[in-house]
Amino acid sequence: MDSNLRLQLLAIARAMNSQGLNQGTSGNVSVRDGEGYWITPSALAYDLCQPEDVVWMDGTGQPQGRRRPSSEWRMHGDVYRRYPQAGAVLHAHSLYCATLACLERSIPAFHYMVAVAGGDSIRCAPYAVFGSQALSDAAIEALRDRSAALLGHHGMICFAADLDQVLALAVEVETLARMYLQALQVTEPPVLPAAEMAEVLRRFQGYKAV
Ligand code: 13P
Ligand code: ZN
Repeated sequence: MDSNLRLQLLAIARAMNSQGLNQGTSGNVSVRDGEGYWITPSALAYDLCQPEDVVWMDGTGQPQGRRRPSSEWRMHGDVYRRYPQAGAVLHAHSLYCATLACLERSIPAFHYMVAVAGGDSIRCAPYAVFGSQALSDAAIEALRDRSAALLGHHGMICFAADLDQVLALAVEVETLARMYLQALQVTEPPVLPAAEMAEVLRRFQGYKAV
């Protein structure tokens, strides 16, 4: 059991709050480790969390530890099962994503950076109560060919290869939600054609520092 990974997980959970992506005990973060994953405990403020409070979920979905796992463990576990490339999963009630989710609005291709989540939209899943299998099923459906989705009347979820990348993706998606809401105050912004978004997706594959 890797204590370094637990420390990294808590650092990202705290950064989620200090960067304004989340507040209180809302939201949760996990990181894959071999056959299972580490997840933040339920209902415990991240500032009070010790590495020993992080919960281990084994390959069969059984929790191990002194705390209860986040109530959204089903959603995290289902993302790891469905997406082998997922190394970390983050769920937040970030203000602008949650505002759009309350309006049941997906984010269309109004800005080319929408492609950061893998396609030409960031879908909004229909509402289901927190912690339920129904919410996990709705999230997985909205994440089809995507790495981020809004959760109706709730917040957002995203996954990436590792903890640093998942936090960066969450910040990017929240920024897009903010831009989209600002644009909506003027009018519904026009969307980029599918061929342009396909070209952005193609270029993103080679977009890395050398
Ligand atoms: P947990 O404290 O159980 O992780 O729940 C927070 C949350 O965001 C539920 O959707
Ligand atoms: Zn939540």
